[in-house]
Amino acid sequence: MMLFFVAMVNNVQSNEKKRNGQQKCRIFASVMTNTYIQLSTPFVIAGPCSVESEDQIIATAQALAQIPEVKMLRGGIWKPRTRPDAFEGRGEQGLVWLREAKRETGLPTATEVATPEHVELALKYEVDVLWIGARTVVNPFSVQQLADALRGTDIPVFIKNPVSPDLNLWVGAFERFQKAGLTQLAAIHRGFAYYKETPYRNFPMWEIPIELTQRLNVPLITDVSHICGNRELLQATAQKALDLASDGLMIECHINPDAALTDAKQQITPDELKQLLGNLTFRSKQSCNVERDLAGLRGEIDDIDSELLQLLARRMEVSAQIGEYKKRNNVTVVQMDRWKKILADHVATGEEMGLSPILINKVFEAIHQASIERQGHIMEQDEDSH
Ligand code: PEP
Ligand code: MN
Repeated sequence: MMLFFVAMVNNVQSNEKKRNGQQKCRIFASVMTNTYIQLSTPFVIAGPCSVESEDQIIATAQALAQIPEVKMLRGGIWKPRTRPDAFEGRGEQGLVWLREAKRETGLPTATEVATPEHVELALKYEVDVLWIGARTVVNPFSVQQLADALRGTDIPVFIKNPVSPDLNLWVGAFERFQKAGLTQLAAIHRGFAYYKETPYRNFPMWEIPIELTQRLNVPLITDVSHICGNRELLQATAQKALDLASDGLMIECHINPDAALTDAKQQITPDELKQLLGNLTFRSKQSCNVERDLAGLRGEIDDIDSELLQLLARRMEVSAQIGEYKKRNNVTVVQMDRWKKILADHVATGEEMGLSPILINKVFEAIHQASIERQGHIMEQDEDSH
């Protein structure tokens, strides 16, 4: 198992030689050896959301094995379901079929483990890579149990982001496996639960995986299927992942997606996967890195802007309360002396922070003007209602 990444990397190197001349996009890092290998195509993990039957997994695997970019077969054996009484995976029987699919196609396999019992069975049936699901990574007790169960194996472990956008929780999971002696670790970005409706099933928040890889230097695989939740967004999201220098893609594929027992809406056929991969543009590593750095910084700007908006809304709210108070107590809205003093203080403080007086004057004049208008409006409203 120790040699898994090396084998993968060698395989990748020979593929790369075949594609000589194509633009090279990405590197896939072996965490174990810290060797970086140029890839002309992303490392693709494909396969059904769930292993459902022997025919389903074998037929899917055989079709996927025809696609050169597909380097690994995924298949869920134990499925974490939101509601009870849904299909929860085939369990041990599914592992027998998954191993058979590997024997027939030569594709290494990957599955999700959530308990030490899952670990024991997955190892018994020769699964090559284990991944930790988003619902498990949120629970440090579960992650620790899995790390303890894997101590001494050094099997590759791919760690999905936790459902919540909590970078430290994700980093903490890596640390637990590292402390248990596991060296072949990679990250899977599958998007985050978000407080607003978005076109995605799980909002990508690209800046979080980017920051993770900057902090931990681990390979990053983008699970576009669980980010999108539908087939329509897959192509654009896979392209975005590559543009941000993701090292690989995880894409759910089923021989008959509409009949899938789990995640039917987001699964595609192996033929559709082939087409999707053919439509991807691979960028130079340098431009990927530029995009990645910019995306991280843009994400930060978006967060700051959103904080600014919240602060402005809160300020207007307090300003309205002052308006009500002034009305009740017959105080004039504008108290020019107080305002001039505040503005002068802000300009001085701003200058100490490297901000130009012109900027501070413009911003605070605009805020003050809006406050006065709001307070004036409150006065009028009160008068009208009398
Ligand atoms: C899956 O990969 O099928 C899965 C359940 O993913 P996640 O843990 O990202 O929800
Ligand atoms: Mn799924």
